[in-house]
Amino acid sequence: MAGLANLDQGLIDMPEAPVAIVGGGWAGIACAVELVDQGVPVALYEAARQLGGRARRVDWNGIAIDNGQHLMIGAYRETERLLARLGSLDKLERRPLELRAPGFHLRLPKLPAPLHLIFGLLFASGLRLGEKFAAARFMRALQALDFRLPADMAASELLRQQGQPAHLVAQLWAPICIAALNTPLETASGQVFCNVLRDSLAGVRADSDVLMNRADLGGLLADVALTHLAEHGGEVHLANKVDMLARQGNGFFLGGPDIAVSKLVLAVHPARLPALLSGLPELASIAAQVSGYTWQPILTLWLRFAAPPAFPFPMLGLGDSQAPWAFERNDIAPGMVAIVMSAQGPHLARTPDALRDEYLNLLTRQLGPLPTLLDWKTIIEKRATYACTPDLKRPGNHPPLNGLYLAGDYTAGADPAQAYPATLEGAVRSGVECARLIIADRK
Ligand SMILES: Cc1cc2nc3c(=O)[nH]c(=O)nc-3n(C[C@H](O)[C@H](O)[C@H](O)COP(=O)(O)OP(=O)(O)OC[C@H]3O[C@@H](n4cnc5c(N)ncnc54)[C@H](O)[C@@H]3O)c2cc1C
Repeated sequence: MAGLANLDQGLIDMPEAPVAIVGGGWAGIACAVELVDQGVPVALYEAARQLGGRARRVDWNGIAIDNGQHLMIGAYRETERLLARLGSLDKLERRPLELRAPGFHLRLPKLPAPLHLIFGLLFASGLRLGEKFAAARFMRALQALDFRLPADMAASELLRQQGQPAHLVAQLWAPICIAALNTPLETASGQVFCNVLRDSLAGVRADSDVLMNRADLGGLLADVALTHLAEHGGEVHLANKVDMLARQGNGFFLGGPDIAVSKLVLAVHPARLPALLSGLPELASIAAQVSGYTWQPILTLWLRFAAPPAFPFPMLGLGDSQAPWAFERNDIAPGMVAIVMSAQGPHLARTPDALRDEYLNLLTRQLGPLPTLLDWKTIIEKRATYACTPDLKRPGNHPPLNGLYLAGDYTAGADPAQAYPATLEGAVRSGVECARLIIADRK
């Protein structure tokens, strides 16, 4: 009755209905944080028991590890902004880029761009002089094109057309492309590869810096995000899967939590999107687009040694082209090492024991005799990323349905020409962009 009286007097200030965010990976978290910081209430629904999605904490016999080693670079501006806002930026260790692999070493000195790249290439070991000039020529040619190819093509074809010697491709370009796009060179998008080179090697010097998490991924983002959202009135519903979606009036009905909302951000893995969109015929073309995606895996082998092996740099290539990379992770526990193998390949057909022995041999060749191995664990993420192929159609963040927004590493972003591959930065940017669109739509 009191409420009715207030209504009659026109005094009641109806609280704003929360924006529903489905999916608590880095995209959903970024969107939620951006919104609550602007005073917009949110309710985040996450199917798993924890936040983080494809970049999350995993318990290994009481030790918190990552589901997979994640590497960030200085160009990850929105990710850095998010972590700074949540107070966990100091958990990233920043170093000038060094690529070390058998017979190859490139280090970008602390010089202003483009001198860092010129001197880095000039003093790189393991490349012939002609290869160094070829690499510089390639970067200049891309710069002349403003890093926009007239037509997309396979990264391998782009490198061939640009006269890049096979040895240079194997030592430098292939490892960068596979690490960033998680897609073999022959099927990777040349345009997205150019975008990565533009934002890393061709940016200001600090853009190419390597940022390594020195806390497990849960400590880096999920924990601090939960606290931040709680402090700002955001609701987080863990273990709360949205299993169907339908129109209700001008808004949406979310089956599972069984609620009606007027604004909805879908921040799920792209493999989950088509099923959720099946009740929205207006978005059938987006569902069909994303249904056509194929996936690339990432394998991480965690090794726990009795003492820390001596790494010359915390990140070490164990071969050329598509080879595993080793990461020193003493921050997790002294003697912890993560070995990462990107994309599809024959390694996935090997038994875990055979792969462990092979990778231990490769590591020994680089570091010499290793301390005693105490324990090991393999984690394979089968759908780590979509295959980042030429001309892949990616939906925008605001599809043609009022009140609905799409966030995730697969979306095209504000400027499709700048599109990132499936990365933390792509995910965070998409979440922030959705929040900006929602705020703009309210005005
Ligand atoms: C092993 C591995 C290594 C990687 N390495 C790097 C790296 O070095 N550098 C880098 O930048 N990137 C890396 N990536 C990529 C990066 O992790 C992803 O691009 C990013 O995490 C994607 O975030 P997202 O929020 O878009 O999607 P996701 O992380 O997939 O988040 C989607 C969330 O939605 C939830 N969800 C799904 N369906 C529902 C539903 N119906 N209801 C409620 N919730 C739902 C899921 O549980 C999940 O939490 C790596 C990925 C993997 C797997």
